[in-house]
Amino acid sequence: MRNFKLISLFCFTLLFARCTNAQNSKAMTEHSNNPYYSRTDTTPLHVSDAEWKKVLSPEVYKIAREKGTEYAFTGKYYKADTKGMYYCAACGNALFKSDAKFASSCGWPSFYESIRPTSVRYVSDNSHGMRRTEVLCGRCEAHLGHIFDDGPPPTGQRFCMNSAVLDFEPDQK
Ligand code: FE
Repeated sequence: MRNFKLISLFCFTLLFARCTNAQNSKAMTEHSNNPYYSRTDTTPLHVSDAEWKKVLSPEVYKIAREKGTEYAFTGKYYKADTKGMYYCAACGNALFKSDAKFASSCGWPSFYESIRPTSVRYVSDNSHGMRRTEVLCGRCEAHLGHIFDDGPPPTGQRFCMNSAVLDFEPDQK
């Protein structure tokens, strides 16, 4: 009986490891042209815009490096409610858990907290005649969106993010 339990545990661990590796290799394949993309390395990056332009898709580059904004209600994640993790699409830095995502009427994916305080950093943004706080990736300084004080408990904050600069990885079943 003890052997059976040990064998079961071994098989489960092997299966889990294979699934995780498959997910990681899928992510790495999608970003094979981007040497700065890593789901594990949190070392801050200092990469020129010229270099980013070579390795990011035009859509990601436009938002991440030129502070663009996708049209409201058009992003792939604004309505998503699958459990999982959101990463920076430019560098792979872990940003948000789906548990912190909430249904917002603003038209962009919204979260009430980042996964770690250092996952993101904040910069004052006075462009377009508004006073806002811009949210950057804490690792590569990609523009992600803005943060507002009209979110739900427990933080009361709303991270208003662009889907195009997020990579989503669903939880393993
Ligand atoms: Fe990043």
